[in-house]
Amino acid sequence: MSLQSHFNTSGHAIVVRELVKTFGERRALDGISLEVRQGELFCLLGPNGGGKSTLFRVLATLLLPDSGTAEVAGHDVIAAAAEVRSRLGVVFQSPSLDGKLTILENLRCGGALYGLRGAVLESRITEATKALNLTDRLNDLVETLSGGLQRRAEIAKCLLIRPDVLLLDEPSTGLDPGARLDLWAALEQLRSEHGVTALCTTHLMEEAARADRVGIVSAGKLVALGTPEELTSAIGGDVISLGVSKETGADQLAATITAKTGIPATVVEGEVRIEHAEAYALASRLAGEFPKEITSLRIARPTLEDVFIARTGRLFADQDVETNDTAGKPAAKKKKR
Ligand code: ADP
Ligand code: MG
Repeated sequence: MSLQSHFNTSGHAIVVRELVKTFGERRALDGISLEVRQGELFCLLGPNGGGKSTLFRVLATLLLPDSGTAEVAGHDVIAAAAEVRSRLGVVFQSPSLDGKLTILENLRCGGALYGLRGAVLESRITEATKALNLTDRLNDLVETLSGGLQRRAEIAKCLLIRPDVLLLDEPSTGLDPGARLDLWAALEQLRSEHGVTALCTTHLMEEAARADRVGIVSAGKLVALGTPEELTSAIGGDVISLGVSKETGADQLAATITAKTGIPATVVEGEVRIEHAEAYALASRLAGEFPKEITSLRIARPTLEDVFIARTGRLFADQDVETNDTAGKPAAKKKKR
């Protein structure tokens, strides 16, 4: 059985071209282009304020872009918004189920709002709850369910219309690590058993690492796109991080290392950072040459965080500190340096 009812001709579930959206001085989307393939689990990874929800809202036909185009299931989000909405399942960041009702009651209400009735509605409920392994929880009150089960019930509600594409905005917000794994397993199962295409936004590296492909956004721009393996292997080796004595300072040690070895060393958050194919050999050489200057040494396989640092020169967590207008963003989200 496939939950998908339509296929568009381009083979792409989502096509985004040069999208721009500004809020006052701030370019929330600064010319983003990307494609999500049919049947793909695609993660849009970015720090707070990166532009993920803005893109999500444009794709969900809730926000008009200033310029550029976006297509969902072959339909333009502006010219054919109603068509797009009929093919989209949308899971918002904040929960949308009624806690005082059971899963079944929530799905019946949700289905009725989509215009589904009678036997069709009941069979869609059976189909969707089976797909999310909720069959034996149908009569549980939503408020008594774990966060992970509630999320799954929400996704089940979206599936009632047999959407071509699922959009999920930070679906694991507020979930504990176990529930996150559970949610992700459910998305993988929907993809592999039912061919569902999903675009999921997240600020969690570990989550994006499980996607088929990842688009990394920063300050409204797409800074990297590919499978997690493609992105991390492009780093070209392992990552050495050096703590540096106060007397020397990271900037000076980075400059000295680069001058002596010809290997680029950068400074990120007060540490010297070097990517190198033979990281162990290089690290032991550096430890021998700079025993006083180096106070700590770490070697790690590159992660998506390293991809982010390599592409933006900044730490992921610091991205919310922007130079332009930050109005509209809660102060608590900003990390001070
Ligand atoms: P993310 O979802 O990646 O955290 P958003 O798309 O919500 O990022 O926000 C991107 C930028 O656009 C942020 O700087 C945010 O402050 C700004 N922004 C988003 N929505 C609005 C709005 N309605 N009014 C003003 N600024 C906004
Ligand atoms: Mg957001």
